[in-house]
Amino acid sequence: MDLHVSLAKFDDQLMCAGCGGNSGVSYLHHRCVEVHERAEDEEYVRLTRVRGSSVTSELVPSKGSGNPSDRRNGVRIAFDCELCQRKYWLNFAQHKGQTFIYWTPILEEPPTLSASSG
Ligand SMILES: [Zn+2]
Repeated sequence: MDLHVSLAKFDDQLMCAGCGGNSGVSYLHHRCVEVHERAEDEEYVRLTRVRGSSVTSELVPSKGSGNPSDRRNGVRIAFDCELCQRKYWLNFAQHKGQTFIYWTPILEEPPTLSASSG
């Protein structure tokens, strides 16, 4: 399930995909950033994850890596909302010369997200 990205009307503030914020204010917190570096249709992707002071980088199979892009590079940022308690990835997916931005719910947390709070 992909959700559209919404910004506040006056200050370009990113709004929660779950509750839309409250009176034009959102309370979203970044938790983890993932960079998926992949040449077109490569079998493996370089996945670099930053969470707090922890950084990991590994070559993993593209399939099942969480890369938002089906064929190339992708970036995703985990957010949680102080208001509705929901958790989402904000995805940036490259497809040819186009970049798509959308939310996806975090249904099951990978261990790297639940290791510490932030
Ligand atoms: Zn919310």
